Amino acid sequence: MTESSEKVHQCLIIGSGPAGLSAALYAARAELYPIVLSGMDLGGQVSKTDAIDNYPGFPDGILGPDLVSVFQRQAERFGAEIVYDSATAVDLSQRPFKVTTYGGEYLADSLIIATGASVRELGIPGENELTGKGVSYCATCDGHFFKEKDLIVVGGGDSALKEGIFLTRFAKSVTIVHRRDELRGGVYLANKAKENPKIHFLWDTIVTEIIGNGTVNAVRLQHVKTEQEEVRDADGIFIFIGHDPNTEMFEDQLETDQNGYLVIDQHMHTSVPGVFAAGEVADPHFQQVVFSAGMGAAAAMEAVEFLEDES
Ligand code: NAP
Repeated sequence: MTESSEKVHQCLIIGSGPAGLSAALYAARAELYPIVLSGMDLGGQVSKTDAIDNYPGFPDGILGPDLVSVFQRQAERFGAEIVYDSATAVDLSQRPFKVTTYGGEYLADSLIIATGASVRELGIPGENELTGKGVSYCATCDGHFFKEKDLIVVGGGDSALKEGIFLTRFAKSVTIVHRRDELRGGVYLANKAKENPKIHFLWDTIVTEIIGNGTVNAVRLQHVKTEQEEVRDADGIFIFIGHDPNTEMFEDQLETDQNGYLVIDQHMHTSVPGVFAAGEVADPHFQQVVFSAGMGAAAAMEAVEFLEDES
């Protein structure tokens, strides 16, 4: 869709993860006729997740893409319009707010930012060159390429544990390399990983280099206490060391914290009246699908109230 800059939408939502699509549902039910800019991947991070076992209402779990699909259907049922485009710039200096996309320009009286977060990179030699050639940040996307292979997983949080467990469906072995000797991830996933015969842990260890000629062959490891180095053969390396909020576009226009997350009050209001934020872009703490969905609903309800107060 190519948008002319003339029409002013009541509510524009940037991002289509659980926060964006829940916001769309609530805004649509309030007849704001919201436009959702999907971003690169409809559904955001959830679309790249295998089974989600902790979203209420699905006692047997649900696949990430299936959850996105039901969120989408429900929002569209009430009139939300999803546009397959990404925002590239915003002007929040005056209302209506202006959002530039690859396909055009949008004006909106209220804006809900649900741009989520992106995977963090290690920043070590070999990582960029070998991404897609044995280096991956998405087990659901790439796991099946590693049947009967020896894999390294980096990280000690829930993502490393969950995705490490998922990778054992394909891999011969999964070695989880963590920089401390204590996991950050929760006890349920930790126990499942520890019980899995294909999973091994390397504690107090960091990866300092990814080695390969065309594809990954090995990783260079360093023990953080003894500083002893080891080169270990590996066919692939999956990196799950957290996320950074997607807030680049809003720098200098909205208040952010020291880690770049948008600062919001308890009602999802950003530092600019009429601009709300929901989901991981504004949530350094919980980062759960259920929480993001709740924030999205709250942001839309606040947008409704904001617009009503004006009329
Ligand atoms: P996270 O909880 O921030 O964990 C990141 C892990 O990576 C930590 O163990 C951290 O080590 C390590 N790390 C960070 N930078 C590193 C570096 N430069 N080199 C080596 N290691 C590094 O991130 P996450 O695992 O992606 O989880 C994010 C949120 O999503 C959490 O709230 C989590 O509970 C949630 N989540 C939940 C589920 C679920 O099924 N319930 C699944 C996935 C994610 P330190 O521990 O030393 O800091």
